[in-house]
This record gives sequence, structure tokens and C-alpha cells, in this order.
Amino acid sequence: MNCIHCDKPAQGVCRFCGRALCKGHARSMPYIITIYVGENRTPKAVVVADTFWCGICKPQPEPIEMPELA
Ligand SMILES: [Zn+2]
Ligand SMILES: [Zn+2]
Repeated sequence: MNCIHCDKPAQGVCRFCGRALCKGHARSMPYIITIYVGENRTPKAVVVADTFWCGICKPQPEPIEMPELA
């Protein structure tokens, strides 16, 4: 599998969309691992920082409130 950007051997894949990436083209992005209900019964997300990201797809960069799940 080769990097989506430069066609060199990939070091990993984007955590969000699965595109292959070499070390030079990998970006980092927080990754949401779970959602919980916080204060005022507003569901919140727990994220892991610095996961592999391709720089192309558009995951949410911040935990977002999801009141529609309450
Ligand atoms: Zn590359
Ligand atoms: Zn991606």
C-alpha cells in the first residue's frame, strides 16, 4: 500500500477514512473514542489526541455537543 499523496510506501492509514499515508504526509487529529453524558445532561465526546490523519477527509477537530442524543 502506498501513500495517497506521494506514492511512497505507507506507514499507516488514516484513522478516519482509511487512506494510506507515508510518515511525511501523515497528519495528527484528535479521535473521538466515546460519548458520555456530561453536565446538564449534554452528551460529550472523549477524544484521543494525535491519531493518524490523511489531511484530506474532514473529521470534526473538536469534541462536539450532541444534544440530539439526550
Ligand atoms: Zn506521502
Ligand atoms: Zn482521512
